[in-house]
Amino acid sequence: MNNHHELAEVLGKHEDCAFSASGVLVCTCGVSMQPQEVMDDMANLASHQADVLLAAGYRKPRTIATREEMDALQVGSVILVRGVALSKESDDEPAGLHWVPAGTPMGFTSGELALPATVLHEPEPRP
Ligand SMILES: [Zn+2]
Repeated sequence: MNNHHELAEVLGKHEDCAFSASGVLVCTCGVSMQPQEVMDDMANLASHQADVLLAAGYRKPRTIATREEMDALQVGSVILVRGVALSKESDDEPAGLHWVPAGTPMGFTSGELALPATVLHEPEPRP
């Protein structure tokens, strides 16, 4: 199953909402939603669908367009630059060779890498 089919199947379980006899807004999946005064029922359903997609693991890949954004990524981050995945191996390598392509010992500075880059992975923030 590809991403499109998986997301379509997930959304298909949450395709509509209606008020129950007791006046509660209920999704087709059976979950009761807490209507927000400022939102109409379709906006409440859309908010519920967004929660469902995030719970299913959907994330829009982040694109970075500046050296500053690249430098701000934590050690352990992985980016895709022109089809090559590179991981940030250090923050303090003296020559700034922080970015290392998988399977090679050779590092690159952020200034040597083409922009934009796509962020494939960011480690969880340290506690
Ligand atoms: Zn639902």
